[in-house]
Amino acid sequence: MTWQAKARELDAADPLRAFADRFRVPDPGLRYLDDASLGRPPAGTADALARFVDRDWAGRLVQGWESWLDRPQRLGDRLGAGMLGAAPGQVVYSDSVTVDLYKLAMAALRHSGRRAVITDDRNFATDRYVAQGIEAEGRADLRTVEADPDRGVDIAALKAALDESVAVVVLSLVDYRSGALLDMARVNELAHEAGALVLWDLSHATGAVPIALDAAGADLAVGCSYKYLCGGPGAPAFLYVRKDLQPRLRQPIWGWFGQRDQFAMGPAYDPVPGIERFLCGTPSILALAAVEPSLDLLLEAGIERVRDKNLLMTEFIIDLVAAYAPYLRLASPRDAERRGAHVAFEHPEARAIVAGLAARNVIVDYLDPDRIRLAPGALSTSFEQVWDAVRLFPPSTQIRGST
Ligand SMILES: *Cc1c(COP(=O)(O)O)cnc(C)c1O
Repeated sequence: MTWQAKARELDAADPLRAFADRFRVPDPGLRYLDDASLGRPPAGTADALARFVDRDWAGRLVQGWESWLDRPQRLGDRLGAGMLGAAPGQVVYSDSVTVDLYKLAMAALRHSGRRAVITDDRNFATDRYVAQGIEAEGRADLRTVEADPDRGVDIAALKAALDESVAVVVLSLVDYRSGALLDMARVNELAHEAGALVLWDLSHATGAVPIALDAAGADLAVGCSYKYLCGGPGAPAFLYVRKDLQPRLRQPIWGWFGQRDQFAMGPAYDPVPGIERFLCGTPSILALAAVEPSLDLLLEAGIERVRDKNLLMTEFIIDLVAAYAPYLRLASPRDAERRGAHVAFEHPEARAIVAGLAARNVIVDYLDPDRIRLAPGALSTSFEQVWDAVRLFPPSTQIRGST
C-alpha cells in the first residue's frame, strides 16, 4: 500500500473527519501543521464576532455589560468541565498566560511563606522569565531542574530538588519543544509531600490531551487558548485555582474585577472569596466572543476522541518522516502515550528545511536552533493532508551530510 492509500484508509476510519468542514480554510493548498502555535479559526468565528459587534456592542452599548460580566467565568466553567476535569467555579479566562503565571506564582509564594520556586531549564521562555523576574524583585529563590531535550523533566531530578523551602513548582504539562507529557498526579503528589504547590502551564496540553485537574489533586494552572483551542491571535488565557485554595490565596494585582461589590467602588481592596479574585481589570469580552465557537466544536468532538486521533496522527507522522525524510532524528518520546499532540525532529539544517517547506506552501514550526515541530489540529486536519505535507520534505539528496 502507498502512503497516500494508507492516509486515505485512516481518514475513512476517522470519526472526527467531518469536523474539518467546520473550519475556515481560505487556501486549501496551504498545508498547515502548526496548531501548536496558532489554531485555525472555526467557520463560525467570523459570524460570531460580527454578531457580537452588531447586536451586543452597537445594539446594547453600556447596557450590555450586565450580560457580559460573567463570560470569563461561564466560559471557564465550560472549558473546565469539558477539557480540564475541573468542577465549576475554579476556571476563569483572564489576561495572558504570562500575567496569570505571575499572579499565581506570587500568590503561592505569599501563601506559603517559603522562598524557593522550581522550574526546569527547558520550560517555555515566559515561564522562566516570570520566575526570574520574581527572583530579581527579591521575592523568591529560583531553583532550576535540568530537563532532557527529548524526554522532558525527569521525576527523580524533580524529587531531588524538592524540600521544605519550596513554595511552588512551575512546570508545563506538555513540553512545547519535545511534546513530552508529564504525569500530573505524580508530580502533584511529590510536591505535596514536600508541602509545595504546583503551578501547571497547560498551554500545549489543553485541547490536546485529557486533563483531570481535580482528580489529579492539582493546585494551580494557567493555559493558552490560541493554540489547540483555536481562540484566535491573542485570545485570553485561562487560570485554575482549586476551590479550597481560593480564599487563602491573594494575588499581587489588586484590581476592581476582584473586588467584592465591585460597583460600590469602596475605599479599600476587599476581594471576593471565589475565583473572581484572580481577575484584575476589564476582561476582553470581544476576544471571548471568538473563544466560544471553537470551544463548542472541541466539546462536541470530545477530548477523548481528539486524543485518539492525535495519537494516530503523531504515529503516522513518525512513520512518514522515516520514509520521506530519514535524515531527521525524532526528538520526542517514542512512546505515544508519553507525548502530547505534537512531535519534534532534530536536524542541524532545520531552519533551512522549514524555510524551504514554507516556500512550497507547507507550514511547520521551526524552534531555534535545530528542531522542527509538527502539530496538526485533530479537528481541522486530515491524514491525507499530513501525508501531503510530509511528502514535500526535501529528499535526502538535497540535505547536506546525509546519504
Ligand atoms: C504559548 C505559550 C505561552 C503564551 O504566553 P502568553 O503570555 O499568552 O503570550 C505561555 N506558556 C507556554 C508553555 C506556551 O506554550
